[in-house]
Amino acid sequence: MIKVENMTKQFNSLKAVDDVSLEIKKGEIVCLIGPSGSGKSTVLRCIHGLEKPEKGAVYLNDQLLDPKEEHYRELRNKMGFVFQHFNLFPNMTVLENLTLAPIQVMKKSKEEAKEIACQYLKRVGLLDKKDEYPNKLSGGQKQRVAIARSLCMNPEIMLFDEPTSALDPEMVIEVLEVMQELAKEGMTMVVVTHEMGFARTVADRVIFLEDGKIIEENSSKAFFSQPKTERAQDFLNKVM
Ligand code: ADP
Ligand code: MG
Repeated sequence: MIKVENMTKQFNSLKAVDDVSLEIKKGEIVCLIGPSGSGKSTVLRCIHGLEKPEKGAVYLNDQLLDPKEEHYRELRNKMGFVFQHFNLFPNMTVLENLTLAPIQVMKKSKEEAKEIACQYLKRVGLLDKKDEYPNKLSGGQKQRVAIARSLCMNPEIMLFDEPTSALDPEMVIEVLEVMQELAKEGMTMVVVTHEMGFARTVADRVIFLEDGKIIEENSSKAFFSQPKTERAQDFLNKVM
């Protein structure tokens, strides 16, 4: 579903992403893990078009993601992105957060957008919060709203950048459970995370990055039981 070819992204002289190639198949759950500053977010942001790599190409269903192409926006809308800090619109209610893009971008009627939004709010257990403003919600609730908002755009793939890192520990579970449900339903997912339990039990595959490079790529099972590289082993010793 996603193909990244020889992607390089520099910030001044720093190669944040250094010649990364990877593929994500339909229905796969892939976790990007690695130390802080290893380039995980930048890889994800380049896939979504939030950053522009100097080199390389990203394909979605064999179609090149190129801002100069006419179908670029349409392609991009097939990817949902969930941020560490939720990025909800503070001046809008939960329901307005969810219906904005479907109405403006997908040209849905208000009624249809509301109906879909309520469906997804119900799925993340927050239908009763539809008329609240984000500042009235806990971190875990905000992130579940952010996930529901992405789902309203009917994405083919969901990209998560440390969705639980900004949350108090007791709220991590409720977000991971929503993600696990999505995974079960067959959603294709790429997840940057430090939640090794999630990576081990939910991911099909793990990609381990360091210094902007892919150091190791393996099935989740193999990665956690017998990492191939010393660097991955060192990392796992530190975080587990
Ligand atoms: P990770 O998500 O693995 O912690 P990042 O992708 O955020 O790593 O960052 C990779 C490297 O690129 C880091 O050294 C970081 O400081 C740098 N970097 C990321 N974004 C920017 C930016 N917008 N401007 C300058 N440097 C950046
Ligand atoms: Mg990051």
